[in-house]
Amino acid sequence: MKKVIIIGSGFSALSSACYLAKAGFQVSVFEKNSTVGGRARQLVKDGFTFDIGPSWYWMPDIFEKFFADFGKSTSDYYQLDKLDPAYKIFFSDDVITIGDCMDKICEEFERIEKGSSKDLRAFIHKAQENYNIAINKIVLKPGISPLELVTKDTVLRVDQFFKTISQEVRKKFKNPKLVSTLEFPVLFLGAKPSKTPSFYSFMNFADFGLGTWHPKGGMYQIILAMESLAKELGVILSTNSPVDKIEVSDHRVTGIISGGKKFTADIVISGADYHHSETLLDKKYRQYSESYWHKKTYAPSSLLFYVGFDKKLDNIEHHNLFFDTDFELHAEEIYDHPKWPSQPLFYANFPSKTDSSMAPEGKEAGFFLIPIAPGLEDTQSLRDQYFDIIIDRFEKRTQQKVQNHILFRESFCVNDFVEQYNSFKGNAYGMANTLSQTAFLRPNLKSSKVENLYFTGQLTVPGPGVPPSLISGKLVSGLAIKKHLKNEIHI
Ligand SMILES: Cc1cc2nc3c(=O)[nH]c(=O)nc-3n(C[C@H](O)[C@H](O)[C@H](O)COP(=O)(O)OP(=O)(O)OC[C@H]3O[C@@H](n4cnc5c(N)ncnc54)[C@H](O)[C@@H]3O)c2cc1C
Repeated sequence: MKKVIIIGSGFSALSSACYLAKAGFQVSVFEKNSTVGGRARQLVKDGFTFDIGPSWYWMPDIFEKFFADFGKSTSDYYQLDKLDPAYKIFFSDDVITIGDCMDKICEEFERIEKGSSKDLRAFIHKAQENYNIAINKIVLKPGISPLELVTKDTVLRVDQFFKTISQEVRKKFKNPKLVSTLEFPVLFLGAKPSKTPSFYSFMNFADFGLGTWHPKGGMYQIILAMESLAKELGVILSTNSPVDKIEVSDHRVTGIISGGKKFTADIVISGADYHHSETLLDKKYRQYSESYWHKKTYAPSSLLFYVGFDKKLDNIEHHNLFFDTDFELHAEEIYDHPKWPSQPLFYANFPSKTDSSMAPEGKEAGFFLIPIAPGLEDTQSLRDQYFDIIIDRFEKRTQQKVQNHILFRESFCVNDFVEQYNSFKGNAYGMANTLSQTAFLRPNLKSSKVENLYFTGQLTVPGPGVPPSLISGKLVSGLAIKKHLKNEIHI
């Protein structure tokens, strides 16, 4: 039986572990932290439960397909509820509520801009076609050759790779609030809407067409489900086990060093951040130089707060976006002139609004996220300063006093991303999906310098986000299975 060692235990690592174990490999996972899940771990404090990272459950079809590959369903592991409303967006002079179906969303668009619902339906129809092509065809390609992107469907839509989502949205919608609403979903891909190809409008179908879901108990339930599936398949998971070196002999991987001990393997897959994974190799075996990594566009880092409130809050939903300041200025301060934002947009999540298991009775669990440029200076006083800024705005927009109702507040920022995940510059969501960082133009799944060494996760193919990470694990294991099981048959 061939031995595989997987570094890290985020979504992509756990996904690849499951596929490889199912294919008959002997799989061991080495995770540096004390629990599995990577960026999707959980904070439990005084009866409150917070997802530390992801909170939006989009593209339920991808999660379903993942579990179906193992003869399972999400419902075997967790209860999924569709949120209605999906989310609310606070602007300086209005609030837009996104319902759980197109009819409700169209009604809201009409309220803001008469006649806009017709254009919206046409836009989402096109987005759905793109979704079907992207998710069912392109995203399942391993990013080895540019030819993977050349299909009848993509050739017919080639213009959509050279126009941006910003241009496409602004052609149809004039009201700035509707423009921001439609530009929001591509922020998950990590780049500015004005740098993201309009083909990525498939994210708008994920948003308005497929809806926003919540696994009861939080996103960590998906990690627990995958951990339990991996164990059922025979994967051995070791936490508190940082990998210090990837061992190579004559251009072929031979194992890893962890805790001063060598563990041999026929195949090594790293699901840790790509840049860090390469630093575990001797220099001659690294594929990308430091200057390569510095030149890339990263998805933002984040300043995060996990707050326990001693009362239920008013005028909020499960997911809330605060777009009451200048969207463009904040984007410039993330991507073009990296600095702490002058007037940050932020996101606030209150899972206890719809899921009573997330906070003690009569109390509210609040998660606040400010996207910031990776690599910024991170100090306690900056964190405090930004909490004051957003909590004042939060009180104003939601018309209530909350500051005297805070039981505790924890924070997480650039330094924690570096320390806890070995993240390059403290990025939160990996490498952005711009045109020049798409598919075969992203860091490879397979090492070009070391035989039997692979990489997976949000810095490689297909990109940032939980669903792409699940797919990344499937793609990388597909490459390994194709190569190694084929060889075995020849032997
Ligand atoms: C704040 C935040 C909010 C997000 N919101 C959403 C959302 O709402 N919806 C969504 O779909 N996505 C969201 N994302 C993105 C999503 O969480 C990520 O894309 C995904 O979790 C990345 O998974 P991964 O497999 O690439 O690896 P990671 O989760 O980064 O896991 C890598 C693992 O490798 C481990 N590791 C690192 N170095 C070593 C070493 N030397 N030895 C052993 N282990 C090591 C780390 O500890 C970590 O466990 C969010 C991310 C963040 C941070």
